[in-house]
Amino acid sequence: MQPPTDPNPDFAVVGGGIVGLAVARELLARRPGATLTVLERDDAIGRHQTGHNSGVIHAGIYYAPGSLKARLCVAGARAMYEYCDAEGIRYERAGKLIVARDAGEVARLDELERRGAANGVPGLRRLDRDGLREVEPHCEGVAALHSPQTGVVDFGEVARSLAAGLERDGAAVRTGAGVEAIAAAPGGRLALRHAGGETRPRFAVFCAGAWSDRLATLAGAPADPRIVPFRGAYLRLRPGRAALVRSLIYPVPDPSLPFLGVHLSRHVDGEVSLGPTALLSPARAPGGGVGARRRLGDLAATAAWPGSWRMARRWWRTGLGELADALDRRRLARAASSYVPGIEAADLEPWFAGIRAQAVGRDGGLVDDFVIHDTERAVHVRNAPSPAATSSLAIAKLIADRVDERLR
Ligand SMILES: Cc1cc2nc3c(=O)[nH]c(=O)nc-3n(C[C@H](O)[C@H](O)[C@H](O)COP(=O)(O)OP(=O)(O)OC[C@H]3O[C@@H](n4cnc5c(N)ncnc54)[C@H](O)[C@@H]3O)c2cc1C
Repeated sequence: MQPPTDPNPDFAVVGGGIVGLAVARELLARRPGATLTVLERDDAIGRHQTGHNSGVIHAGIYYAPGSLKARLCVAGARAMYEYCDAEGIRYERAGKLIVARDAGEVARLDELERRGAANGVPGLRRLDRDGLREVEPHCEGVAALHSPQTGVVDFGEVARSLAAGLERDGAAVRTGAGVEAIAAAPGGRLALRHAGGETRPRFAVFCAGAWSDRLATLAGAPADPRIVPFRGAYLRLRPGRAALVRSLIYPVPDPSLPFLGVHLSRHVDGEVSLGPTALLSPARAPGGGVGARRRLGDLAATAAWPGSWRMARRWWRTGLGELADALDRRRLARAASSYVPGIEAADLEPWFAGIRAQAVGRDGGLVDDFVIHDTERAVHVRNAPSPAATSSLAIAKLIADRVDERLR
């Protein structure tokens, strides 16, 4: 049983993932004494993307210079390390290699190096074949970028720590409080109707991940972009084979997609994963715990969005490849063995899956950058895919600046 919470707080944050919790922390830090309630639909926080990802504190290499992702990833990684130091959260600056397997990939590696330098990624350096083998002795490639400041952490643990900090500072974190309706309320407030009753804040920030489009449109924001969910499944290297990977080994990604490619990651708990796949998903949450009705609703929403069909027409070949990868472990093993030759299908076992909340425009384009919209008395985070966990503390500052401006 949760204690009763203030029905009329100054702020409500909808969504108890890492972004919502970081935003709540920043709002309170700027206004000590303000009242704030986090409303989370699930019965625990951090259960969705925040708790099901690669756990990589990205350094900011990939993103177009000047984009929100570029700015907020570099600043967010710095802030994440500082936060983990302050709160005693385990992390490792494990370092990461992006490996070019042939001359064709070297030109794309050049572009990543240029972007990394423009984004101010610390310590980025180019390695030749011998250099990359010093970092990862079992890895093969013709060249690599090494990012020594890339790290790993459990973002779920970060979220739990943020929630505990909020409660210490007097905020309420309500679970089982899925917001279903949004309306104007008397006295310049918003009425948020949820499973636990009604909360009427002066201002709200919506950080609902895969459901961000639904809440934004309920609040009067434009329909574009919509969330289209992509399932990212991970395999795990069997214990005896985990020594093939010291830290993080990534391929050179396809520049036309906002995904980083199937990579090998040593997580902070020592497990080594291979993944994630990127398969169009019928549902916005991974299998368990989601009723058939909600899954059907998710599927219908994806099918009703013209952008989904335009995207499917453009990417059907890639989609078929992803489907084959999801069904056949040997294909993923082959992909991994193209840069770590020792890996075989027998070394891999199923691990976990996360659902990426990827915004897709009406034109069928996968929206690359973070997207934030304003509605009456509210701000909505509408596209916060990777590296939003890394960037969460910096996204929080950006949102809080926006709220300050709106309330001035
Ligand atoms: C497979 C995968 C790998 C990734 N790898 C990385 C990585 O290595 N590094 C990195 O930085 N990022 C990574 N990401 C991205 C990162 O996980 C997300 O960007 C980040 O977790 C987004 O956080 P969030 O709080 O916006 O969303 P979420 O964690 O999804 O939280 C949204 C919350 O809103 C709640 N909610 C939804 N609707 C309602 C409602 N109506 N009322 C109340 N609450 C509601 C949900 O229950 C949920 O708890 C990865 C993502 C995936 C899926």
